[in-house]
Amino acid sequence: MQAKLGNLVLDQWVDGDGDGNVLTNAVSGEPVASITSAGLDFGGMLHHARSTGGANLRKLTFHERGEMLKALAIYLQEHKKEFYALSTATGATRSDSWVDIDGGISTLFVYSGKGRREMPNDHVYLDGPPEQISKNGTFTAQHIFTPKLGAAVHINAFNFPCWGMLEKLAPTLLAGVPAIVKPASSTAYLTELMVRRINKSGILPEGALQLICGSVGDLFEHLICQDTIAFTGSKNTAEFLQQHPRVIAESVAFTAETDSLNSSILGPDAVPGTPEFDLYIKEVAREMTAKAGQKCTAIRRVIAPAAIAGEVVEALSTALGNIRVGNPGNKDVDMGALASQGQRDEVRDRVAELSHEANIVYGGTDDFDVVDADSQKGAFFMPTLLHCDKPMTSKLVHGVEAFGPVSTVLPYKNLDEAIELSRLGEGSLAGSIITNDNNVARELVLGTAAYHGRMVVINRHCAAESTGHGSPLPHLIHGGPGRAGGGEEMGGIRGVLHYMQRTAVQGSPETLTAIGHRWIKGADQRDPGVHPFRKTFEQLELGDTLITDSREVTLEDIQHFAEFTGDTFYAHTDEEAAAKNPFFDGRVAHGYLIVSFAAGLFVDPDFGPVLANYGVDDLRFAQPVNYGDTLKVRLCCKQKTLRAGSGYGEVRWDSEVTNQDGDVVAQYDVLTMVATNEHWASVS
Ligand code: NAP
Repeated sequence: MQAKLGNLVLDQWVDGDGDGNVLTNAVSGEPVASITSAGLDFGGMLHHARSTGGANLRKLTFHERGEMLKALAIYLQEHKKEFYALSTATGATRSDSWVDIDGGISTLFVYSGKGRREMPNDHVYLDGPPEQISKNGTFTAQHIFTPKLGAAVHINAFNFPCWGMLEKLAPTLLAGVPAIVKPASSTAYLTELMVRRINKSGILPEGALQLICGSVGDLFEHLICQDTIAFTGSKNTAEFLQQHPRVIAESVAFTAETDSLNSSILGPDAVPGTPEFDLYIKEVAREMTAKAGQKCTAIRRVIAPAAIAGEVVEALSTALGNIRVGNPGNKDVDMGALASQGQRDEVRDRVAELSHEANIVYGGTDDFDVVDADSQKGAFFMPTLLHCDKPMTSKLVHGVEAFGPVSTVLPYKNLDEAIELSRLGEGSLAGSIITNDNNVARELVLGTAAYHGRMVVINRHCAAESTGHGSPLPHLIHGGPGRAGGGEEMGGIRGVLHYMQRTAVQGSPETLTAIGHRWIKGADQRDPGVHPFRKTFEQLELGDTLITDSREVTLEDIQHFAEFTGDTFYAHTDEEAAAKNPFFDGRVAHGYLIVSFAAGLFVDPDFGPVLANYGVDDLRFAQPVNYGDTLKVRLCCKQKTLRAGSGYGEVRWDSEVTNQDGDVVAQYDVLTMVATNEHWASVS
């Protein structure tokens, strides 16, 4: 009797009732484990996630959650050997497992870094600048994001048991939201192993992660409006779940990543003999066979110029002939098995369906020689290429997804036809274009982008560093319109915001400053008593303001700055020419002279807690400065971000340079690093 997979329920490992369904090794057909979630308290899981997991996560700032993700990534990296060992049972080769295991872990690292770099060390994320909505500025507005107070239910596909979980988990946890993960049954044993290790690590707070191995039971009956569902799988299942009465009644946010008949277009310039032609053949063959073609982003439709479609078929058939299929644990093998015998049967049926409108020109069978395995016991399917000579009128080649090593060549006569063929897929996760003609690239991208979530254009110049057609990256959005589900995941911080609620908050500038922890114009500005550069990070308060002395800008200053820097642009050096410029009456000061004088006015020169100025943001020169004008600066502490453990924090200063009439001539944020009390005490 094989082991039953555990379910992580209320932070305890629980067996489901009954014997469960038997899961088999994709290569040998031997049983691996059994799976059942019968009898679990699904409502209780949701409650535990919301009341314990959410509450625990929300105590942490974005930076602390980022640190948590990093610790988890390091921990999983240390245990990855056992994940790789088990991954072979799913039919994955070592490089397939690398995408799944290392790819998943690197997603945690990327989100950890992005959370700490691009989000505040705080509990609220501000969405853009404040909105001016009143004449005098006493009533203003700020969009904010706060974590949803529910659970994120993640329903994953079978093809990436590790990455599929981690790519959803990273943005969810960074948002401060707990997750309940339901992996696809056929490969759930690998997800379960990883969750066991995560749980053992103790890195995540109580309630942050729960696992269902098997059916979701009556979980959906207990959903509330604060919960979210992120689904990956087939379009049919997504539609079924989206129509659940509870999802509709509670307006539960539902993100779907579903089927996709992704296309790759070969540009008309990329004829045989060009580097692009070779790149295309390599890319298509790789996409067809990586993970035995069980990738939602794999190239299913090979859109090639009609004049060379025969050569494409020939070159691809040769490339596929070089792929060694067999036991993925054998180093000589390039392509392993499909995830299960059921999946192999499904692919065989879909190929049969496709063959009504396209000819099988390579492969098309599960009865073939494989390396170091029994082709009938394992879930093997030969890489299969079809060719459709009437792609504009064919329905099946644009609608039937064989989720295995299967693609169809579709010839096109001109770019309009290539665009139309791509669009016939009715929405894809990923599309690629291989061309060395940038005009062709633009025409194809503008013609097809609305049908795609991500597009990659490859030519001889970027191929070596290209991440390829089918690799979703944590930095970029993953998802697509129409058949692809209409959802969006990852995309850097965008992916975190899917688990948060955006709220427009209106109130006085002082109130909004207190809520968002970013000073808003119109809020209190106080004289800190000492120069603010003499204050440590902890001592500084939002609104601490310095009003400087004045300084006149002379013609000599402008002349000197021009000669000294070499910036002798006519507006600063030629009175007559400057006056012809519609923006100036005559010679004006350089913008950078204004900024330099401003620094000269506001800095406190002595050794102090301000460690460095690392840049400025949003610099605008609002009005010209003529010689004879007098400048003054208002510098106000706007935002503080502690860099925990580093001895300093980042302080953003709102800077406004005005002239003798009080008109703003320049405004920008000055960015500084300021020592913490501890660091300052150790060096001063
Ligand atoms: P599927 O049958 O739709 O299953 C997907 C997930 O939904 C599995 O976890 C499955 O669990 C679960 N599920 C099925 N019925 C359910 C129900 N009534 N209630 C709750 N959960 C339910 O898809 P599949 O055949 O396993 O996966 C292949 C498909 O996924 C392909 O079409 C592929 O294009 C798509 N896919 C898309 C992406 C993407 O990112 N867009 C990635 C990978 C795969 P069980 O396994 O326990 O049934």
